[in-house]
Amino acid sequence: MARVYNFSAGPAVLPEEVLRQAASEMLDYRGCGMSVMEMSHRSAAFKGIIEEAEADLRELLGVPESYRVLFLQGGATLQFAAIPMNLMRPRPDGSSGTADYIVSGSWSKKAFKEAKLYGEARCAASSEDGGFSYVPDADSLGLSPDADYVYICQNETIYGTRYPKLPDTGNVPLVSDASSMFLSEPMDVSRYGLIYGGAQKNIGPAGVTIVVVRDDLVRDDVLPFTPTIMRYKTQADAGSLSNTPPAWGIYVCGLVFKWLKERGGLAAARERNEEKARVLYDYLDQSKLFKGTARKEDRSLMNVPFVTGSDELDARFVAEAKAAGLESLKGHRSVGGMRASIYNAMPREGVEALVRFMERFEAENR
Ligand code: PMP
Repeated sequence: MARVYNFSAGPAVLPEEVLRQAASEMLDYRGCGMSVMEMSHRSAAFKGIIEEAEADLRELLGVPESYRVLFLQGGATLQFAAIPMNLMRPRPDGSSGTADYIVSGSWSKKAFKEAKLYGEARCAASSEDGGFSYVPDADSLGLSPDADYVYICQNETIYGTRYPKLPDTGNVPLVSDASSMFLSEPMDVSRYGLIYGGAQKNIGPAGVTIVVVRDDLVRDDVLPFTPTIMRYKTQADAGSLSNTPPAWGIYVCGLVFKWLKERGGLAAARERNEEKARVLYDYLDQSKLFKGTARKEDRSLMNVPFVTGSDELDARFVAEAKAAGLESLKGHRSVGGMRASIYNAMPREGVEALVRFMERFEAENR
């Protein structure tokens, strides 16, 4: 068996220990005589799985009692709609409420566009003028005190930027798409109204979306056309079991939570991730061939885009890296170049192997 170093942005590398455990429990989950994929989501065994997953996630992330944890389907993209539907407050005059969006890349731009379908979404700041290579300054945003929420994408997967500092939104709830940084470092949950993300990057297999939402934002007075299944109240009241949940995915997420806990939790994860990112950025900063594309102060610890300046050389790099067991280094189709996603489960040895390969490639192609 040969495992490659997989730099995919998601679905992405999972911890080998987790994959082995899931494999060993595939035919008979702990004496049940069946796999988690086959069991009723109403069974005692699955109840144990989802409750333990929630408890472990709460412990890892330090989720206060006053927040609900939801395990949902539909990907992060469904939340682009669910967030305005649930959080924009209907006004007495029949209008739908307002929200401020900070557009720092393709994902927040999509979320902004979606929100405009349901209410008055405003762009409080954008870094599109700079090709999304930076994050708008958190201290000079045009935020409105009457907004129902302020929306950010805390780590933009495609452009490889992350917020070095959270905006101060006062009493207005801060909503964060944390898809590509979830559980890569500690977060102060109490600073947010809602944090969400698709699991398929740092947490588990595709098909699970995690929403951590403050109690007072889980309400009945959502926009009236909100489908029942998209109301946070529906799933919060049902413990995420209003309909059939992504059971297998939740189980694997639970294994990843335990894997993280055994390795010192999120503070230790941040240390490992900073160390890995440093190895790659240090090399990029002195390279005469490769160039990182994100502004230094805003660089992501998770997604590292870079280019040579030549499309032909970029394509050769990606192909030769693949042949050397370094997978999925092609940049997002919208921007080209290269991107190395170095999530929690990417070992330091993987990043070192990438840098050694880049050094060799540079020596041969300068
Ligand atoms: N937000 C971010 C930051 C992402 O990286 C992605 C997917 N790469 C999405 C949202 C969309 O996620 P999904 O495909 O799960 O809908």
